[in-house]
Amino acid sequence: MPEIYNSTQLRRELHGLAELGLDVKNTAAFVLQKLRALGIEADYVPGSYGVLGVIRGSEPGEVVLIRSDMDALPFKNPDGSVTAVHACGHDAHMGMLLEAASRLVGKIRRGTLKILFQPAEETMQGALLMVEKGVLDDVDIAVGAHVRPMQDLKPGTLCAAVMYSGFAFPIVTVHGKPAHGSRPQLGVNAIDGANAIITAVNSIHMTPDVHWTIKPTQIKADGAMNIIPPVCTMRFDIRAKSNQVMTGLLDKFKQAVKGGAEAVGCTADIEMGKVGPAPDYDPEITKELADCINEVAPGRLAPNCGGGGEDFNFYKTAMPKLRTGFFGVGVGVTPGLHNRDMHFDDTLLPVGAAVFAAFVLKHLG
Ligand SMILES: [Zn+2]
Ligand SMILES: [Zn+2]
Repeated sequence: MPEIYNSTQLRRELHGLAELGLDVKNTAAFVLQKLRALGIEADYVPGSYGVLGVIRGSEPGEVVLIRSDMDALPFKNPDGSVTAVHACGHDAHMGMLLEAASRLVGKIRRGTLKILFQPAEETMQGALLMVEKGVLDDVDIAVGAHVRPMQDLKPGTLCAAVMYSGFAFPIVTVHGKPAHGSRPQLGVNAIDGANAIITAVNSIHMTPDVHWTIKPTQIKADGAMNIIPPVCTMRFDIRAKSNQVMTGLLDKFKQAVKGGAEAVGCTADIEMGKVGPAPDYDPEITKELADCINEVAPGRLAPNCGGGGEDFNFYKTAMPKLRTGFFGVGVGVTPGLHNRDMHFDDTLLPVGAAVFAAFVLKHLG
């Protein structure tokens, strides 16, 4: 019998290895060694520090992928140096996935189980990189999980679907024309352009049936107190709970920026950046995850919760036929995710590992 791993213990070991983005060399070596020690066929995802373990059943069946992220977050020290800290709980996710893997060795009868450790979730590069490398090509179902803050889930409870938002953080550059402050009629004030854009953006209306929000978060115009500023840059934070609403919202945003700028004689460019997708979970998979939670933790299924963004959702937009699900694990994260002092009760992690294992066995056992 292979060893059964303990996700609490593994999380504590992985916590000290915190690394950033795509550059998770030591973390990858750790999880690879742990998978191989279980006798699981495992290797790096070529050209990356992603790690993929594979367990094949003897009968044909679905390909199910369970996924953990691997990266930590950078925090600036008083001396200007940067320390990587696992402040989003990705150490916990790796621990749960490794424990689940150890519980599944010898139990996969049909189909194939893929156990994926994905780098660069925080930088929104990892999921699409794994897709590019072909990891998802044959996958029918992909499931992930995230530990949740205290405000979302009481410690010890779990939810079947973490309701993330789609997001975009465009940069807008407004162009006017410089002039001496005493002769404003000879110039075009880029701040006036920014002001008109904000008014136009605040006049956008989308359906109230789906949560969405759009607001300026940064604004900056260089110049002196007596110069009409020719350039003003702005940043917006845009979120929506559905990809359809996000698409409509971004169209209206582009119109508002163009129209607002033109109304006062300015022009404006938009650098849209990466648009993060909202979740598009398969209702059947969410229902099965709820069943698994009821099975392994009776009475501890909580209502769906969530917020923020997650690059797991890129898997679905990149592979439209893929069926996805993503459950939440209540471990009492305080003061919050992405806080350097973030801490939680990691003795609750084995329940999350058990949900992963129960879900896999429903399909491949
Ligand atoms: Zn995070
Ligand atoms: Zn995270």
